Amino acid sequence: MRHRRIWRSATVAVSVLAGLVTAGCSKTPGERPKADYNVLLVTLDTTRADYLSCYGHTPETSPNLDALAREGIRFAKAISQSAATPVSHASILTGLNPYQHGVRVIYAEEGYRLPDNVPTLATLLKGHGWQTAAYLSSFTVSEFYGFDRGFDTFDSGLKVPAHESFQKGDGVWLWPVKENQRRSDATTDQAIAGLKQAQGPFCAWVHYWDPHDPQVLPPDDVMARFVSDGMDMPTRRRAIYAAEVFYMDSQFGRLIQYLKEAGEYEKTIIVVVADHGEGLGDHDWWFHRILYQEQIHVPLIMRVPGWPSGKVVSDLVRTVDIVPTILEALGAAPPAGVAGRSVRPLVEGQADTVRIAYADAINAFDLNSKLAEQRPLDEMLHCATDGTWKLILRPRLEDQSELYNIKDDPRETKNLYAQESGHADRLKVELAKCNGFVNKPFGAAVDPDVQARLRSLGYLGGDSSSTPPPAPTTRPATTSRP
Ligand SMILES: [Zn+2]
Repeated sequence: MRHRRIWRSATVAVSVLAGLVTAGCSKTPGERPKADYNVLLVTLDTTRADYLSCYGHTPETSPNLDALAREGIRFAKAISQSAATPVSHASILTGLNPYQHGVRVIYAEEGYRLPDNVPTLATLLKGHGWQTAAYLSSFTVSEFYGFDRGFDTFDSGLKVPAHESFQKGDGVWLWPVKENQRRSDATTDQAIAGLKQAQGPFCAWVHYWDPHDPQVLPPDDVMARFVSDGMDMPTRRRAIYAAEVFYMDSQFGRLIQYLKEAGEYEKTIIVVVADHGEGLGDHDWWFHRILYQEQIHVPLIMRVPGWPSGKVVSDLVRTVDIVPTILEALGAAPPAGVAGRSVRPLVEGQADTVRIAYADAINAFDLNSKLAEQRPLDEMLHCATDGTWKLILRPRLEDQSELYNIKDDPRETKNLYAQESGHADRLKVELAKCNGFVNKPFGAAVDPDVQARLRSLGYLGGDSSSTPPPAPTTRPATTSRP
């Protein structure tokens, strides 16, 4: 692949969102980034950190990601800003917390789409002359959520266009799952084919979906490696999940192999992160959308040319730190007002101000979620953590908030909210600074037809229950929870 330099002045929209002002991506408007590396951002949907072998899982599930960690930097304590796919991805792509970028829920009349004036990694790098491409695997990161902006190529993998992707059946609108998700091998095929066409430095986003849902299973040989007859349902579900992680990792390995064969690996910034984890029975919950560690402690691995290799960073970092870090690696400043900041000082072993990670789950406003009915305590959750203490605040039921020492109690078994009020109060102050609380969260109205579809989707619900999902063969074929 030949690198052709086409630099343009950065023209970045100015966004005013709840007092947030964003500006151009360079300290001097129009200034070129100093480095011209490729950028490969890989998001692993629904992937718990503790299910990767480089985070301690046995048997081995992630040999290719483990290899990247050995050659790059593994962040042992990365926190996602949401456990809902589009909300979390919006934070990964913008460096903003949910209350800043405006994607608050998966489905509602408003508040589900990234506003057109919020800069993203793609809009910023496209503005600097990078070729931008996305190869994705599910509806929940599609153009429906406004994630296509800034991409020259946007391959969401949908067989049904996003704006037509709800089928009407028996009086309700359904999401045709099989037509709107694809396995990691298909996504990787498209990504490699697309990258072969690149004529200059590229910024590629590859999204894998396999662990999200046991509808699209790995090949039989991978299943046989993890799943065996006679497993009880919870064990089987967790084994299928591990098989999906393993298969996804193998496809990530194909992608890396392509970069090496094309001579691009050494000039590519590679960032791999999950949008959120999965309950798998922990805290009496099998899915996501809440804020315990199995939900928001995500794997984060980076390899940056010229940066240390084989490094493990144990300080708390956040997914909003990704965009500022990539921009720093390229020699560019992030947009003013981003919530995240570059993790480079931590990578270099320098002292850095302790980060506070914010996350929220405003399930009560999500038309697609029945979680507020099934787990009434979890209808509105706001989290702040400094990496040792973690507060899950229930603003409507404050006495039932939770506080954990996640250093001593990483599985969050001992709620210390009543005993450790000093730490709880300190983190409440951090939450108050964020001003992420919402009573009526959503801004501009959207198209009435879209509103009608989304309203209909509300009858679907989506989060099932605290019992394990049925075996894949008995799962409904046409509906799913994003
Ligand atoms: Zn997700």
